[in-house]
Amino acid sequence: MTLPIVRVPTLAIHDSSDRFPVRRIYCVGQNYAEHTREMGGDPDRQEPFFFSKPADAVVASGSVLPFPSRTQDLHHEVELVLALGEGGTDVDPAEAGRLIFGCAVGVDLTRRDLQAVAKKAGRPWDLAKGFDRSAPVAPIRRGRPPVAAAITLDVNGVRRQSGVLADMIWSPVEIVAVLSRYVRLEPGDLIFTGTPSGVGRLDRGDAVAAAIEGLPSLDFRMA
Ligand code: MN
Repeated sequence: MTLPIVRVPTLAIHDSSDRFPVRRIYCVGQNYAEHTREMGGDPDRQEPFFFSKPADAVVASGSVLPFPSRTQDLHHEVELVLALGEGGTDVDPAEAGRLIFGCAVGVDLTRRDLQAVAKKAGRPWDLAKGFDRSAPVAPIRRGRPPVAAAITLDVNGVRRQSGVLADMIWSPVEIVAVLSRYVRLEPGDLIFTGTPSGVGRLDRGDAVAAAIEGLPSLDFRMA
């Protein structure tokens, strides 16, 4: 038997023929007060917590996604995604912007029913969050993330999520700084920065349109 060839997943870069190679995907758990409350939490600026998805969970804008297995309650979470072009550990927040190559609109797809079971049993979230094609991401725009931009998600033309990036509890540079104290960040890492309120269910056939002012938009459909 020959050894398998494993390919590095990549994402499109806006206005470029280059591709962004994805090394790891980190995600912030709860980073907008309203969403923290809707999940039953207390948004008192506790240090952010993180989970991860496999790199090959990324899917491009325009995709049709097979409906995930083992869930009756698939949820959408629209998020600002940071794409790192440099690495580091124990990065100072004042220096963290230097690590950011660009940013994009992403959706953290979540099997909410599996997550609820895991939370209740004190078990890991991995398979509630890190399943196949659980990370649709739009083309990456080079440069620093927008600060006060609107972030929205529509399902079948109906607005479901609406927020502003300024309402993030932890800013992009603070997130990079905190995460870099737990792991060495490297070029190719993506960081999902949390979702505003209004998360909800997706069904077969739903068309999703996610947007952040100033960034290429993200569209996908559930088969
Ligand atoms: Mn999320």
